[in-house]
Amino acid sequence: MSSDVHEVVILGSGPSGLTAAIYAARASLEPLVIEGEPSSTGDQPGGQLMLTTDVENFPGFPKGIMGPELMMQFREQAQRFGADLRTEKATRVDLSQRPFKIWVGDPSAPEPTYLASSLIVSTGATALMLDLPNEQRLLGHGVSTCATCDGFFFRDHDIAVVGGGDSALEEATFLTKFARTVTIIHRRDEFRASRIMQDRAMANDKIRVLWNTEVTDVLGDQTVEGISLFDNTTNEISQLPVTGLFVAIGHRPNTDLFTGQLAMKDNGYLITDTPSTRTNVEGVFACGDVQDDTYRQAITAAGSGCAAAIDAERWLEIQE
Ligand code: NAP
Repeated sequence: MSSDVHEVVILGSGPSGLTAAIYAARASLEPLVIEGEPSSTGDQPGGQLMLTTDVENFPGFPKGIMGPELMMQFREQAQRFGADLRTEKATRVDLSQRPFKIWVGDPSAPEPTYLASSLIVSTGATALMLDLPNEQRLLGHGVSTCATCDGFFFRDHDIAVVGGGDSALEEATFLTKFARTVTIIHRRDEFRASRIMQDRAMANDKIRVLWNTEVTDVLGDQTVEGISLFDNTTNEISQLPVTGLFVAIGHRPNTDLFTGQLAMKDNGYLITDTPSTRTNVEGVFACGDVQDDTYRQAITAAGSGCAAAIDAERWLEIQE
């Protein structure tokens, strides 16, 4: 273990974590960023933008930018001001007293890897996926988890949305601005979504619903050309020709590490003391999707990362 106590440790390296790193580095706090490691579930340093193609709604890039390229630029900017980025994954934290303790690697090691006076949690959220054989391969090539990000690319296309909650119905309605038809595929015979979302979707004549239907695979070589379906009432198997599949079956915030230590909502998102980024533990701040189940955009994540760095800096200033 290093006996050094870092003034700020940042967990996560999506738009919120790296924006926090840029601000903390420019405030001479020499932040250490534990940026995560690639995992089999699709998580990786850089966060969800690493899984998208063109990003056209991030201000400052009028011609659009590829998600991974945007994150490289965030990274370079943080490093330019001296942020120390480590490609490691935190496996345990102890926030019961300061300095906070952070382990990477073996979580049962007696000594933590890092000590931190303040901690910024920006571990993000992971879109739930269907675990279809070809889903990951075609992610960013017709399979998407973000209608706001990718809807524009499906102008006059026939596309499908999976799910029956508010996200699925909201995304389906939004996607009718672009697509020729949107087929909602839901595994049951009624939606979970709120009545208003249902009414809005059902009143839209570009939308149709396949009830009691499960997607069993995504078809296509380079890009999506169709999906395989299973009707769970008739056991019928069919294929639907679509060029896009939007998976809208929920997100899971990456908060397992903080169970029992940081206050969370019932859905697992961290609770912050809005309008600040303070958590219930003094000296621990949270930003980005790990505490945002409303907007979930790169730009809102970046904004909250900036706020977290400023909150941490001000908090550090008043400590002895
Ligand atoms: P959600 O409410 O948990 O709904 C997930 C949907 O996906 C459910 O219909 C579920 O089916 C389906 N699903 C889950 N796993 C599946 C699988 N493996 N295969 C096929 N279908 C699967 O998630 P959400 O829609 O993302 O909403 C999350 C929260 O955000 C909710 O509280 C929602 O109200 C809120 N939200 C609000 C707004 C808004 O008000 N504007 C917009 C978006 C989200 P079952 O129904 O069969 O379980």
